Amino acid sequence: MQVCRWHKADDVPGGKFLVPGCWSRAVGGDHADCQCPKPPKRMTKEARALVEALAALRLDDDQLDEAWAYLARFKST
Ligand SMILES: [Zn+2]
Repeated sequence: MQVCRWHKADDVPGGKFLVPGCWSRAVGGDHADCQCPKPPKRMTKEARALVEALAALRLDDDQLDEAWAYLARFKST
């Protein structure tokens, strides 16, 4: 089962944060059950890895909208 993972960052308290991150693991530690929403099952492994990498960037709404608008041009039909 997929669980959220720690990403290192110098600009957050503790120097790391969970991605996607859930209270269960934030409070209960690494042995607690992950309650994060799962990425869509239809995604390929590569697409999931990219989505997780994007999640780790913690983009703001405008940045996500711009990224989505860009990606939408490459939809398969
Ligand atoms: Zn989690």
